[in-house]
Amino acid sequence: MTADWMCMGDELRRIEEAGADFVHIDVMDGVFCPQLTVGPPVIAALKTRLRKDLHLMIDEPVEKVRAYVEAGASMLTFHVEATRHPHRVLQALGSSVVRGVALNPGTPANAVEPLLDDVELILVLAVNPGWSGQRFAPGTEKKLHEVKELVERSGRSVIVGVDGGVTRENAGSIASMGVDLIVAGSAVFDGGDARANLASLQAGVGRRSV
Ligand code: ZN
Repeated sequence: MTADWMCMGDELRRIEEAGADFVHIDVMDGVFCPQLTVGPPVIAALKTRLRKDLHLMIDEPVEKVRAYVEAGASMLTFHVEATRHPHRVLQALGSSVVRGVALNPGTPANAVEPLLDDVELILVLAVNPGWSGQRFAPGTEKKLHEVKELVERSGRSVIVGVDGGVTRENAGSIASMGVDLIVAGSAVFDGGDARANLASLQAGVGRRSV
């Protein structure tokens, strides 16, 4: 969302060259959250050697997720708040993608507990999706710890990520919260030099490849 859509090929090349692990694509439907972004045809048209990490902020995704898998998702995350049947959505996703569930700031960590046997990624949102100009919510650190405890207790290997409110200034302290994955948007693309911005973010967080 924060890249320059008129130059998307160049933007993707810049983050490829800077060694990004994934390209994170925010899919919003104007129903689950206020903004409207892109759907499967645009995602399929993005030519990149980066793996596509799709973050679906769409209402009732169960009948829709296969189209996103077929559009080239490597990882696909949906919101537990967006569906009455999160377990069914996980079944619909199948085994060809990394399956993720996301939690809005107002959702407790234990909402993911019944799903832990069937997910590989939990994405904790530090802002409410679809409203711009928000800061990293202060309750996020506590929720990350609670999610990590649930994951440890499950004995499964699950990636814990954070999305929203990440800046070049706070990325280091977010990394010290013990997360496996940090999603950055404007911290990469604002200011015009995505390659340099990403390199400085990676240095600041002590990056390991996922
Ligand atoms: Zn996202």
